Amino acid sequence: MLIKSNKEEILNYLEDASNLKSGTCHGVFIPEDEEEVVDAVNICLSKKYPYTVSGGGTGNVGGRIPFLGYVISTEKLDNIQTMENNKASLQSGVIIDKFLNEINKINKFYPPYPTEKSAFIGGNVSTNASGEYSFCFGPTRNYVEKIRMVTGQGKMIEIPRGRYFADSNGIIDYEEIKIPIPSYKTPDIKCSAGYFSKPGMDLIDLIIGSEGTLGVITRIDVKLIDKLPERFILILFFKNEEKVMEFLFDVKKNFSNELYALEFFDNPSLEFLKQDFSEIPDNTCAFYIESVYNDDILEKWMTISEQYNAIDVVVSSDKKSYDRLIDFRHRLPENINTYFKKLNITKISLDMAVSEKNFSSLFSFYRNITSRTNIRTVLFGHIGESHLHFNLFPIDEKEKTQVKEIYMKSLEKVLSLGGTVSAEHGIGKIKHQYLEMMYGKKGIEDMIKIKNIFDPQGLIGPDNLFPYSLVKKIQ
Ligand SMILES: Cc1cc2nc3c(=O)[nH]c(=O)nc-3n(C[C@H](O)[C@H](O)[C@H](O)COP(=O)(O)OP(=O)(O)OC[C@H]3O[C@@H](n4cnc5c(N)ncnc54)[C@H](O)[C@@H]3O)c2cc1C
Repeated sequence: MLIKSNKEEILNYLEDASNLKSGTCHGVFIPEDEEEVVDAVNICLSKKYPYTVSGGGTGNVGGRIPFLGYVISTEKLDNIQTMENNKASLQSGVIIDKFLNEINKINKFYPPYPTEKSAFIGGNVSTNASGEYSFCFGPTRNYVEKIRMVTGQGKMIEIPRGRYFADSNGIIDYEEIKIPIPSYKTPDIKCSAGYFSKPGMDLIDLIIGSEGTLGVITRIDVKLIDKLPERFILILFFKNEEKVMEFLFDVKKNFSNELYALEFFDNPSLEFLKQDFSEIPDNTCAFYIESVYNDDILEKWMTISEQYNAIDVVVSSDKKSYDRLIDFRHRLPENINTYFKKLNITKISLDMAVSEKNFSSLFSFYRNITSRTNIRTVLFGHIGESHLHFNLFPIDEKEKTQVKEIYMKSLEKVLSLGGTVSAEHGIGKIKHQYLEMMYGKKGIEDMIKIKNIFDPQGLIGPDNLFPYSLVKKIQ
């Protein structure tokens, strides 16, 4: 097994897309197969080294950034083991882009991949990632059929879907280990906040979204679907946001069978894209839509765009223009991240979601905030799933203080509406406090008790999901 300890060699493992600066570690284990993962975990166990599991390093919340001990990198676990019928089995370090290309060759598709396709499948499972098609197909959770994982005790375990369920007392009996599920219930919306919990839940769902705190996932079996039929992308530009909600609900009601993706970009978001797409009309907001293609459906879209007075409509007409519009959607988070890096500040990004019935209320709340502040903001993303990214760019200490207040008020609002503090990016090292606001002290303790079952020494993923000091205290 390769072990890196040279300062320059490990620098890359001390960052992700969060721009968190506090990463440090003694070295990086790079196992080449499952046995070597067991070896790496056993070395850490015997020496009591804490360790952080690393995937592709595209996470937004510092989950793969170590702040002490070692890193176990999954980068060499990069084999797609099998692909047949509607299933694939792959090692956790497979890059999602490579996987999508391979299954495309056999006319299959894997819908829940995130926008950033250099992520690894293991990272996707650990954060319950979702992407542009999750509006139609749901998040990663819906596609994971089996997980192989090395626990904190250095034991290889295999958890298939459909075998181990919580009983009526909330206990999952797994090979004589009793796992009490948390006392809270995960909201029934898009959510990547803390361990999943639901009466009668499947054990595999506890591992999905556990952000590298329960073990090193080595192999994953996923469900595939048939390649999607021919589609096209439309971008509808509107003069203002007056009819955003009306348009949204109209589209959801009348186009549900045709829609694959439904996203929103406010005017400041479009400004971030103008450098790459000069045709964006000034002073507009936009809906990005991916739909099944046929002439009647295109006609239906044109009718609704006229009905709502879209001032411009861009439609993909061939593969080249389709790819260009896919890039339109992908470019925004990249451009925003580049901007944050240039300013050299930690990203202040709200990743909250609520149910469909409460979405108008959250949207008005965000707009009330933006109308009363001069801080630069963008509001964009997965409007079809009642989940928008609200990013703020404070430029000085005064604005930073204001942003903290805005963050807290937004959290209170979202939680009062039964929503989640993270719909997509997870908690990592930067949102502990918000997770506690969502599930309370008891909820956090319930999670740590579960962690202690898989990782009795408390060595895996220090400071992911909850403070390391709390894990040590509850042990
Ligand atoms: C430009 C951009 C766009 C993005 N768009 C989206 C999006 O559309 N949807 C979305 O959901 N996310 C998005 N993200 C966030 C990110 O891509 C996802 O969270 C992704 O799933 C992280 O995968 P990764 O392999 O990079 O994980 P890493 O960043 O390496 O790790 C993430 C977490 O998973 C844990 N982990 C990784 N591998 C394993 C393993 N094998 N076993 C146990 N734990 C493990 C780590 O310890 C860490 O806690 C975006 C990020 C960027 C930079």
